[in-house]
Amino acid sequence: MQSQSLIRAVVDAAALRHNLRQARRVAPGSRVMAVIKANAYGHGIVPAAKALAEADGFAVARFGEGLALRAAGLTNRILLLEGVFSADQLAAAAQARFELMVHSFEQLELLEALTGDAQVIAWIKVDSGMNRLGFRLDEFGAAYERLRRNVHVHAEPTLVTHLASGDDRRNPQTRRQLDAFASATSGLAGARSIANSAGVLAWPTSRADWVRPGLMLYGVSPFPSGTGAELGLRPAMTLRTEVIAVKDVKAGETVGYGGSWTASRDTRMAVVAAGYGDGYPRGSSSGTPVLISGRRVPLIGRVSMDMITVDVTDLPVVAVGDPVVLWGSEIPVEEVAAHAGAIAWDLLCGVSQRVPLEIG
Ligand SMILES: *Cc1c(COP(=O)(O)O)cnc(C)c1O
Repeated sequence: MQSQSLIRAVVDAAALRHNLRQARRVAPGSRVMAVIKANAYGHGIVPAAKALAEADGFAVARFGEGLALRAAGLTNRILLLEGVFSADQLAAAAQARFELMVHSFEQLELLEALTGDAQVIAWIKVDSGMNRLGFRLDEFGAAYERLRRNVHVHAEPTLVTHLASGDDRRNPQTRRQLDAFASATSGLAGARSIANSAGVLAWPTSRADWVRPGLMLYGVSPFPSGTGAELGLRPAMTLRTEVIAVKDVKAGETVGYGGSWTASRDTRMAVVAAGYGDGYPRGSSSGTPVLISGRRVPLIGRVSMDMITVDVTDLPVVAVGDPVVLWGSEIPVEEVAAHAGAIAWDLLCGVSQRVPLEIG
């Protein structure tokens, strides 16, 4: 179906599949729980799941995300990364065959209060130092034993932790977390899962039985510098739009809200159909690269809700309707994020609902 929107996010299903294969190549001994929370980082949860159907399972954060996958007919394993928060949700999760993260005593109690013969697959989370979700090291052994004794829980729970600083190859916190997890789980039966994208790519000992890559599946680097392409990944999303006006301003004139950008020379500028209402980051600074007709040109002035302005003085020709790429293979989203003081995760899952997604 052809949408009338000038701005659209074009998702390359072949790139998603390539990135999944890349994760397998890097972690050949691990099963892959593909993380597709937050609408598959803005790529569209159902089409992304279909493209990634070869994964060993899907991880989501919200109950409704799992239901959307089941409603679309997907029968894959689905892990709720934060588990369930009420008896009703637990019953519905068992019904939908969702696998549950168990990270708190409240969740253990919900499982212990379950009646009937429902069975669930459980993953149990150790807080090895991130201090977000998970059982503390000193309470983990007891929590694990209670979970194992629970008649509603299948076989052995998978033992999980999450890295706080895996994206920083020199940060000693990761080594400390790996050691803490190893000693907390020593001798306990069950598969292990530690690595997010940064773990997969930078911390071989974090790969274990299951990896949980998110960002890298979308072709984007989890590290503070460099791009997905440099890691053998292919960016899956290209955010495309068009030029909607071209005009000339004189040296000394200002452009946009607050007059925050002043022309230092006579300037030809293009107005482009993209703004923070579409999820283009409002914090983007003048100089952020934008691709017009295949050439890089700098953003000027403030990002508006529906428009941005770009200096096209150095382009030979510019016309209304010229194609624009805001990010994608030629303008890495990592680079745009850096210019906005943001991170790639934020830009991708911030693409707003009014932007049509096209997957092909
Ligand atoms: C989001 C998330 C991941 C994936 O993280 P990336 O950095 O995007 O690879 C893995 N595990 C958990 C628990 C998560 O919440």
